[in-house]
Amino acid sequence: MLHRISRQSLQMGLACVTCLALFAGCAAPGGATAPTPVAMTDDDHQAATEQVETLPVLTPVTLAAGEKLRVVATTNIVGDVVRQVGGDAIELVQLLPPGTDPHSYQARPDDLRALNQAHVVFVNGLHLEEAMAPVLESLDSGAPVIAVNIGVTPLELQEEHADDAADDHHHEGADPHTWMDVRNVEQWVANIAAVLSALDPAHATAYAANATAYTAELTALHEEIATTLASVPAAQRKLVTDHDNLGYLAHAYGLTIVGAVIPSLSTMAAPSAQELAALQQQITQEGVKAILVGNTVNPAVAQQIARDTGAVVTSIYTDSLSGADGPAATYLEMMRYNLAQIVAALTAK
Ligand SMILES: [Zn+2]
Repeated sequence: MLHRISRQSLQMGLACVTCLALFAGCAAPGGATAPTPVAMTDDDHQAATEQVETLPVLTPVTLAAGEKLRVVATTNIVGDVVRQVGGDAIELVQLLPPGTDPHSYQARPDDLRALNQAHVVFVNGLHLEEAMAPVLESLDSGAPVIAVNIGVTPLELQEEHADDAADDHHHEGADPHTWMDVRNVEQWVANIAAVLSALDPAHATAYAANATAYTAELTALHEEIATTLASVPAAQRKLVTDHDNLGYLAHAYGLTIVGAVIPSLSTMAAPSAQELAALQQQITQEGVKAILVGNTVNPAVAQQIARDTGAVVTSIYTDSLSGADGPAATYLEMMRYNLAQIVAALTAK
């Protein structure tokens, strides 16, 4: 369990820095003492006890003859899944172009127009679209904003504190990259079908049929990923990622994430020199071969670490699909492409 202890050290190093920075601005009256990080008790990613709320009660939209339900999706991964369920019955606008980083994306004027004309807006939630939050929280249209992750049990990347009073101040929070466990996307499909059917009951049969067919494809994908990764010797299933975006993949399919170039659930953070040095040491000590870098992230730091450690940078798609002519134009294609890349990287001689 060396990897886990070492990873904890890395995370605790981050925790100390964060605590100090946050504590300076938010000390409780009466003089609370600085929290002391303690080792995590289980895995780096722990199942959170709370779930993301429940689906709201929605009333049907009045549509004119020939008018379709107007649906907006934020990320292109959410958009693809909404498209699979809504099919031809909806008019879908997907905001984030291929290759854009959902953490830092800010709504553009065309996006605002689409958002304000929508009957419903689907978001990932769990603070993935953090840079777009002010816009999503104040839509003029009053359209419901639905997190596809409702009902999904999020994993948390967290440090525990001896001092509970300071507990809120530096938790990384729930990991938004839920789609890396295919079973979570099955929950998305159920949510999307329920919402579309409630708003547009005339097409409820079509939505249900689309959802059933797509869920069968997702179940097959889940089994394919599980079987394929199980064929890689356990000692070789160690990865470094660009930011903490593969927690669900690791949790669901038995991989070990040794560390991340940006040790954060968001790309809106930067690693310190000490964190990078600790990560390099980890990679060398544990013989990690693969640094996986998503298509939305600048690979320069990962490439430098690879040069210094002998690991190899492998490109995958994590936070965004590829364009239509790329290898990851849909969620199913993205996951299969990533699976092939990851297995090749883990089993390289
Ligand atoms: Zn991310």
